[in-house]
Amino acid sequence: MVEPMELNEFHWLLAIVQSIDVGVVVFDRQYRVEVWNTFMENRSGRMPSEAHHRSFFELFPEVDELWFRNKVENVATLGTPSFTIWEQRPYLVRFKNYQPITGLEDFMYQNTTLLPLKGINGDIEHICLIIYDVTDVAINRKRLQKANTELQWLSNTDRLTGLYNRGYWEERLRQEHVRHRRYDSQAALVMFDIDHFKRINDTYGHQAGDSVIRKVAEVVKESLREVDVAGRYGGEEFAVLLPDTDRQGGQIFAERLRAAIEALTVRYQEHEIRFTVSLGVADLGEPTESHAQLIEWADEALYHSKASGRNRVTVHEP
Ligand code: GH3
Ligand code: MG
Ligand code: MG
Repeated sequence: MVEPMELNEFHWLLAIVQSIDVGVVVFDRQYRVEVWNTFMENRSGRMPSEAHHRSFFELFPEVDELWFRNKVENVATLGTPSFTIWEQRPYLVRFKNYQPITGLEDFMYQNTTLLPLKGINGDIEHICLIIYDVTDVAINRKRLQKANTELQWLSNTDRLTGLYNRGYWEERLRQEHVRHRRYDSQAALVMFDIDHFKRINDTYGHQAGDSVIRKVAEVVKESLREVDVAGRYGGEEFAVLLPDTDRQGGQIFAERLRAAIEALTVRYQEHEIRFTVSLGVADLGEPTESHAQLIEWADEALYHSKASGRNRVTVHEP
């Protein structure tokens, strides 16, 4: 016998389920739909009468049936709920996203819950599926991630050249030095500086100087392998870290770069600007206390190139 009060409560609960802003679907162990609330009606465009007694998989052919059955069987067997969040699967059923502000994605991101429902005899004969619209959260999170990635790129990168800036480049060198100590790996460092750059600025103007710096960076990028790390070390000074490369490899790289830049012409307005660079090479073949030591060695070699006539490569000899 159902007491009048309980009947009242039942109607209230029904009204709540109908008007709540989450999807509620109840289906039996054959996946035939028995409850289909207003949220489901509005989002799917299907009336409850159209959904009743139809197979869940027929209503939502996009659902990965094997995966879903497996989840539902676990819920029914263990008698415990199961949750899926949008990070694992963006959505279970494909609903259109109508939220104007978040119009980036055309589908609704969803979290879902599966609840076991016991019958009077205590058996789990029905499963309740609850669908939460988490499009707002998901899109905000994705925007934040994208902004963070861009921010990180910006804070690691030199604006003029797109190469790494000095701070980040040095951090990469430090990491490489740690790797070298642990695994005794090789690495070579090439540092170079544009010759008589002040003259370029003085003759053609600062903008022309900027074009030259940019062009040098392009040549460097073209000559890099995937693993190499190139940075703008100072105004017209650059540094390239070559992991797993010995002194000779570093020297060959440096010489190729020197020749490529010597052969270059930068056009700026009506001017054709030609210039050279001086380079210094050092490597981790000798014991080093810190990564700063390697910079010092390469810098000494670079200075030697300047002092002995410029447009040349010097390899640091321990
Ligand atoms: P050296 O052959 O000995 O290297 O002579 P240099 O003239 O290249 O060297 P110096 O250090 O005397 O001059 C470098 C100049 O580079 C001075 C500075 O004004 C200029 N400079 C630094 N950063 C930039 C930049 O971002 N753009 C431009 N256009 N010039 C820069
Ligand atoms: Mg210079
Ligand atoms: Mg300089």
